[in-house]
Amino acid sequence: MRSGADFGFTEEQLMLRDSVRRFVKQNVGDAYARKCDKEQIAPLDAFDKIAEMGWLGIGIPEEYGGVGLGFVELGIVMEELSYGLLELAVLHYRATVHGAQSLLTYGSEEQRRKYLPLIATGKFKSSMSLTEPNAGSDAAGIQTRAVQDGDHFIINGSKIFNSQVDLATRTVLVTRTDPNVPQHKGISLFFVDPHSPGVTIQRLDTLCFRSVGTNRVT
Ligand SMILES: Cc1cc2nc3c(=O)[nH]c(=O)nc-3n(C[C@H](O)[C@H](O)[C@H](O)COP(=O)(O)OP(=O)(O)OC[C@H]3O[C@@H](n4cnc5c(N)ncnc54)[C@H](O)[C@@H]3O)c2cc1C
Repeated sequence: MRSGADFGFTEEQLMLRDSVRRFVKQNVGDAYARKCDKEQIAPLDAFDKIAEMGWLGIGIPEEYGGVGLGFVELGIVMEELSYGLLELAVLHYRATVHGAQSLLTYGSEEQRRKYLPLIATGKFKSSMSLTEPNAGSDAAGIQTRAVQDGDHFIINGSKIFNSQVDLATRTVLVTRTDPNVPQHKGISLFFVDPHSPGVTIQRLDTLCFRSVGTNRVT
């Protein structure tokens, strides 16, 4: 049920919710959602408009080019976008959570200064590469290996159900860097260009998520 309840939201949060709701009504109608799904077109024009509204900067501190605010506001935006087209909400989620929050939690200061302003303004798209053919719910069972070779790493492995990785500027790639510790340890995240040489991306013929698509990445 689409609720009109305020869930204890502040005045500002209610204004944000109403503003996203209006945006969805005006920009993401049934015809648009059907066209994206049927023709497998990612809703990138709507994504650009979300960027113009400043909603990709939510959760990113102002010093990194964001608008601040927190997870409640992120949840409000995602919930409202989902009413229009789930894939649009997921594009927003990959940017603001998988991209931005990974950098804020685990990234270096240099990475934050370089990438967060680009994420906040929609110039940069993110994806998340965790799931593997033999490790879905059991995320600690991943086998993709990252091995240091001088000043760089060589990464080998296969990811599956990777949404919109073909659209992404960078993907948060979950790898195993130390195989000699308990399996929930020795895991490292790389912020990788999925269009690098040696990476293959194969679109899967799924029932849902047809607009942005899910992929096997090797
Ligand atoms: C449309 C779509 C988009 C996705 N996008 C991404 C993405 O962008 N990036 C990414 O990394 N992943 C993505 N995923 C993968 C998603 O995160 C996985 O599908 C999910 O983690 C479940 O893994 P699985 O499909 O291998 O199921 P499984 O792990 O095989 O689980 C199947 C069922 O068994 C249950 N189960 C599993 N293990 C146990 C256990 N030990 N005890 C009891 N029950 C158990 C699970 O709860 C589940 O109900 C996407 C998936 C879909 C469908």
